[in-house]
Amino acid sequence: MVSPTDQRTDGALDVLRRVFGYDAFRGVQQDIIEHVVAGGDALVLMPTGGGKSLCYQIPALVRDGVAVVVSPLIALMQDQVDALTAVGVRAGFLNSTLDAAQRRRVEAAYLAGELDLLYLAPEGLAVRSTLGLLERGRIALFAIDEAHCVSQWGHDFRPDYLNLSMLHERWPDVPRIALTATATRATRTEIATRLQLTDARHFVASFDRPNIQYRIVPKREPRRQLLGLLRDEHPGDAGIVYCLSRASVEKTAEFLVANGIPALPYHAGLDAGTRARNQQRFLREDGLVMVATIAFGMGIDKPDVRFVAHLDLPKSVEGYYQETGRAGRDGLPSTAWLAYGLQDVVQQRKMIETSEGDLAHRRNLAAHLDAMLALCETVRCRRAQLLDYFGEAGAANCGNCDTCLDPPESWDGTVAAQKLLSTVYRLDRERNQRFGAGHSIDILLGKHTDKIDQYGHDALSTFGIGTELRDVEWRGVVRQLLAEGLLAVEGDYGTLALTEASADVLSRRRTVTLRKEPERPLSGRAAKPRGAATVVADLTPAATGVFERLRAWRAATAKEQGVPAYVIFHDATLRQIAAEPPASLAELSRVSGVGENKLAKYGEAILAVLAEG
Ligand code: ADP
Ligand code: ZN
Repeated sequence: MVSPTDQRTDGALDVLRRVFGYDAFRGVQQDIIEHVVAGGDALVLMPTGGGKSLCYQIPALVRDGVAVVVSPLIALMQDQVDALTAVGVRAGFLNSTLDAAQRRRVEAAYLAGELDLLYLAPEGLAVRSTLGLLERGRIALFAIDEAHCVSQWGHDFRPDYLNLSMLHERWPDVPRIALTATATRATRTEIATRLQLTDARHFVASFDRPNIQYRIVPKREPRRQLLGLLRDEHPGDAGIVYCLSRASVEKTAEFLVANGIPALPYHAGLDAGTRARNQQRFLREDGLVMVATIAFGMGIDKPDVRFVAHLDLPKSVEGYYQETGRAGRDGLPSTAWLAYGLQDVVQQRKMIETSEGDLAHRRNLAAHLDAMLALCETVRCRRAQLLDYFGEAGAANCGNCDTCLDPPESWDGTVAAQKLLSTVYRLDRERNQRFGAGHSIDILLGKHTDKIDQYGHDALSTFGIGTELRDVEWRGVVRQLLAEGLLAVEGDYGTLALTEASADVLSRRRTVTLRKEPERPLSGRAAKPRGAATVVADLTPAATGVFERLRAWRAATAKEQGVPAYVIFHDATLRQIAAEPPASLAELSRVSGVGENKLAKYGEAILAVLAEG
């Protein structure tokens, strides 16, 4: 145990080294910590995995009193407390999962000043007895985690967060630090206003996540493509697969299991017990794949998620970034993979058109979708485009995304676009009929389908004039025209219609540059083995063997203690130990992630595992 009196007098850097076992602060961490330790308010914007927790955990140890952490993530509080306990920090939580006796124990510890951190759900702060309890203790600071939950426009809105402005009124002298990974300027302003953080200093970290490789591929047979990705690049890795609907979550999870990949489903239609169990297993066991709707993920701080795959198009770049950000928190190479196709565009446009809400709301949804589509269709570096979107302009090509690794070819699609648009025009104006994309493509390809024969569409002047492109290529044309707003989908059936901008193409006032559809969507060049394979990629075979032995020891230890494996040690720490095996406890203590407490607790066991070899 780290003795509490020492902690009070320690400098922040010393706490970082001694307690957490890390060498140096990352980016803005140090500025934030110094500011809060000195009693200042802070609003922190950092991407997922950026290292937000230390920004309040270290001030909690340096300042007098107990840090009160407000978090909506009740299900994760136990793990957070376990992770802190593992490094010798005294933490507890109060929420609805505790029974009366457990609650009394935590309350007594708080009042006796025997806690460094106390986690609370926001609804707890609406309860008078809890407020009374807090008032009888000494508070070091308030940390408001997932602060974007105060935003009424976001999908994580929690009404109880609106209440939190009272913290400032009741405890005007206690510093507050609000943290979020949601980046937009509008959300940031809203957080500052609603939490009365008007004098807070804003700390905005770069949103770049260099260890994540971004890839967006055309959707052909999505489940097969996914399977290829998992088998070729991520065998044995933990990861998340996002699907839009509950049904496709179920089907995809079954498909993976049938193909020998351990996968679990997660969506709002499952009962709470199953959801909690699946989440628990994902966090605790090695190498599970979670197939989920976006209901899964906020606050999941499992550091070794090696891939995040999307089988359906996210509704916004914000959502995409937040979801993909759950990969690679430990800084090791990870993949963000998205399969995207014509049907996604049709479906999402349709959903927006038929959505409830006023025109302004629908426009807002459409603008978000457009930005997402622009990211999918860009021939630029994906990362540069993402960073640009979040206000970091001028990033160089990253060398770690599909467009950098395998630059897409573009082609002059003006004539193809004209052929397609005039087919839609003729159906609409000459026949007063509207059809989906497939039918227009059949007309261009000159196919005699039942529908074409039935309507006599072989008499249209565009019948059979598009045989220079294959069906998939035409679908690419339609998709890109939709993405650029040169074509629209309407109604319940997702039929094609012209837009005002279509006329410019038809009258040759505008040319259209299109991205070439790759022959094989899973490009061999981008697809070098990653994940479990990458974690040990540059290790010698002997060191890889050591790494596997350490992992097995970790799994057994975690199971014995009932905590997630990463609470014992992160992959990155085991990897470093395997690469340069320490010969003594003193040498082991210099490895990143090995602090005093873990050294005392696991040091001998690690040396014993190493000696076995
Ligand atoms: P966030 O809450 O911003 O998503 P976390 O606080 O969970 O991120 O930190 C992400 C990971 O980075 C954690 O595994 C954490 O232990 C590690 N980490 C944070 N700060 C440092 C640091 N200064 N040096 C090394 N590792 C760090
Ligand atoms: Zn790039």
